[in-house]
Formats: sequence, structure tokens, C-alpha cells
Amino acid sequence: MNALPERFEGEALSIDLHMHSTASDGALSPEALVEACASRGLTHMALTDHDTVAGVERASAVGESHGVVVLPGTELSCQWRGLNIHVVGLLPSGARGELVAGLEHQAEARERRAVQIAARMERVGLENALERAREQAGSDRPLGRPDFARALVAAELVPDMATAFRRHLGNGKAGDIKAHWPALSTVVAWVLDAGGVAALAHPLRYGLTRRKRGQLLDDFHAAGGQAVELVSGFQNPDATRDLARQLDERGLLASLGSDFHFPGGHLAPGSMTPVPRTAVAPVWTHSRLAATFGLPMPAA
Ligand code: AMP
Ligand code: MN
Ligand code: MN
Ligand code: MN
Repeated sequence: MNALPERFEGEALSIDLHMHSTASDGALSPEALVEACASRGLTHMALTDHDTVAGVERASAVGESHGVVVLPGTELSCQWRGLNIHVVGLLPSGARGELVAGLEHQAEARERRAVQIAARMERVGLENALERAREQAGSDRPLGRPDFARALVAAELVPDMATAFRRHLGNGKAGDIKAHWPALSTVVAWVLDAGGVAALAHPLRYGLTRRKRGQLLDDFHAAGGQAVELVSGFQNPDATRDLARQLDERGLLASLGSDFHFPGGHLAPGSMTPVPRTAVAPVWTHSRLAATFGLPMPAA
């Protein structure tokens, strides 16, 4: 098994710490996702389905037989200053402590939210919206906005997913209901209580100015958050270097992931912009992750 480097030197890495399966809004089963990772040469991965660890056990079993280290994880929905923010929990011991009740809360929040989203989508012409979204999900997993987006496309109310989000489900639109989600500091506390590492997901995708992003990083750090996704899928190298400076200033660790959801798009497991050479330390050097990732344990 390839060892992970202790610092970023600009080399290609065989690790992806942010991916989805059919346990949330991904297209591949947990098993198929791990197989896709193995066939692409990944040695380390985290399964980070939205607000659940339901796929983790199945992924870990396949990981063992394919020589891929599978780190349990989840991507938690929360709120910060009226924005819907995502926090990835990297969970070497899985869900335990306060996170267990936290995930139950998230599942209920998702259900109540789906009922409200459905009512709003009916107002824009999607009849029996909850049933239609459930059909699109194809299982009894918790519903997400992509299920409503697909239902809008299937009903020919919009031409494609991107339009569905732009008109009805994206930031600030009728279907963007976030009142059910807990505060940023709450979900960070759940991850810490589970013995995990909290990584702020895709900080460049919230449409924030650099200054406001700095405030988000400050609040996340103050809440106990340890890492930030320095690279999420494909992103501008200048923006990456600038973000690295913001992490370095705060002593935050760098995580990275594709945010892969389905094959056939521009992303595959492990595909992302390379991490540039930087003084920011990789998230796997954190003492809570070093054992899982086969690094020498840092001195206490
Ligand atoms: P939810 O977890 O229900 O709040 O839904 C958020 C998910 O919707 C994200 O994780 C993405 O998978 C998906 N999503 C967000 N924006 C878009 C978009 N513009 N086009 C397609 N999918 C999107
Ligand atoms: Mn998603
Ligand atoms: Mn996300
Ligand atoms: Mn994601």
C-alpha cells in the first residue's frame, strides 16, 4: 500500500476524501464506488454521504478485499449566517457519541424539509411532488434537492438539472430551505465528540468574498474545526494558492476530495486539481487519522 506523504510537494496523490454513494445522492452503490476507486488506483478514500453513514459498512468490506483504505465519513448540512454550509466529518471510529443522535436529527430534518420543498415545487407546477421525488430517488433513502430537480426535469418543467437548481432549488430559491439544519458549531461539535476530524467542505463554492470566507474559516476554527478542503474537484490554481494562505494563517489542515456523485460527468473518483506545494499540512497528519492512514503516530 502506498504511504501518504507528510507534506504536499505538488505530487499526484491517490486519495479522495469526499465522495457520495446511493446512501445519499450518488449514483454508485457503496460497493461499486470502492471498486471504481480501486480501478483508478486510489489507495485511500472516505465515503461522505450527505448526513448519513449508512453506506460505510458496505464500502469498508469491499475496501478490505480491494486493498483500499476506507475511512468512514459523512457530509453534514448546517447553517452559518443564513447560508447552507457543508462540513465533512472524517470518522476513524465511525459514528459515535453525540454524532449518533445528530445523524438521527439530520434524517428527521431532511424528511420535514422534503415535505416543505414538495409543497413549494407543487406551486411551480410539479404535481405530487413528494411522490415524484421519491420515484427519482429509487429507494427509501432520505430525499435531497437533486431528487426534486430530477422530478422537475422528468415532468418537463425545466430542460435540465442545472436549470432546475438555478430557477427553483439553488441558493435563495423557493426550494432552498435550510431552516431545519443546525448551526455550523453544532455539527462540528458532533464530529469532535465522535473522535473525528471536521473538514469544511468546498469553501470556494459558497459564493463568498475572500473576506467573508475568512470569517467563515475563523468561526469554523473557533468551533473546533481542524481542516478545510483545500482542493474540491477542479478549481482555479490561483484560488487554491490564495485559499492555502488563509489556511496557513489559521493553522488549519488541508483535506481534498472530488465530491464525486455519478459517472459520466467531468469528475471521477480521485479526479481533482493537484494540491500545490504548500506549508499547510495534510489532514491525514492529524493524530486522530494517522493510525487509520498508516502514518507514524505523531509524538504526543
Ligand atoms: P441537499 O443535500 O438536499 O441540500 O442537496 C444538495 C446537493 O444538490 C448537492 O450536494 C449537490 O449534489 C446537488 N446540487 C447542488 N447544486 C447543484 C446544481 N446546480 N446542479 C446539480 N446538482 C446540484
Ligand atoms: Mn450531493
Ligand atoms: Mn457539499
Ligand atoms: Mn458532497
